[in-house]
Amino acid sequence: MGRVFVAGSINMDVVATADRHPRVGETVAGREVLYFPGGKGANQAVAASRLGAKTTLIGRLGKDSFGAELKTFLGAQGIDLGSVRDADTHTGTAIITVAASDNTIVVIPGSNAQVGADDVADVPLAKGDVAVSQFEIPLPTIAAFFRRAREAGVMTVLNPAPAQKMSGELLALVDILVLNETELGFLAGVELTDADETAKIIDVARKLQARADQTICITLGKRGVLALAGREEVAVPGHAVKAVDTTGAGDCFVGALAAQLADGVPLRAALAFANAAASISVQRMGAGPSMPTATEVAAVLR
Ligand code: ADP
Repeated sequence: MGRVFVAGSINMDVVATADRHPRVGETVAGREVLYFPGGKGANQAVAASRLGAKTTLIGRLGKDSFGAELKTFLGAQGIDLGSVRDADTHTGTAIITVAASDNTIVVIPGSNAQVGADDVADVPLAKGDVAVSQFEIPLPTIAAFFRRAREAGVMTVLNPAPAQKMSGELLALVDILVLNETELGFLAGVELTDADETAKIIDVARKLQARADQTICITLGKRGVLALAGREEVAVPGHAVKAVDTTGAGDCFVGALAAQLADGVPLRAALAFANAAASISVQRMGAGPSMPTATEVAAVLR
């Protein structure tokens, strides 16, 4: 069984709830403040580890109380933190205000902006492992990580979220691109919504595909997932569930997919597993804490 290496962001999400949002310059009294471990990299590592994959997280934390708390939480999930280094700035933080079921978010990358090529230079990648990243650390770091991975015969999985433009060079280093329809549309320069027909979505994916052997997986929320694997199309329908919080559904999907691929599971079966795992995560609150175990996923697939 291979190992999952996730190079990515680690954040503390600070959530304030209130009856209404303050106007500019105004102060309102809130109801409560909640702290959630977050960041796409950390969430994906938690998903992979909970599902039984040996998982190493590569990232940076500030030498502050959030950094210490996040280390404790991630360590308790069984994640190897030997490649999480100190930053000389504060830990990545998201300040979220939730009022009347709308939210506003300010994310300060902090320590995540310091994850550099040095941090991925000495990671012990070996054939059969899976390298995973997302767009909350500097893109040149991801390119350096994937270059090393490909040299070592390691499969690369990129979740280009939050969406930003990337070079053709980086895209060509990706074996499996996992993104939602909005991100696909953004990268391809086409407007796509989750109501678009699958034929149109696959058509856009085909235009984006950088190599003939590249796989593009498009997550479609409750509709499940579509993939273009080389020339082949794969559709995995969503599970009918009562979603209470879809935060981290995409991260659960990516972590679960990586865990399966590191275990040597073929793509179609790995997609079905990840789709089932993500459908469990949407039935629970939060991102990190909502990630399922392999036993729970097996029960859905039975
Ligand atoms: P993102 O949060 O990145 O936009 P999606 O909303 O596409 O990602 O969700 C990722 C995956 O989570 C989907 O492919 C699906 O497997 C699962 N999922 C998301 N929302 C639902 C839902 N309402 N019902 C069942 N599964 C869901």
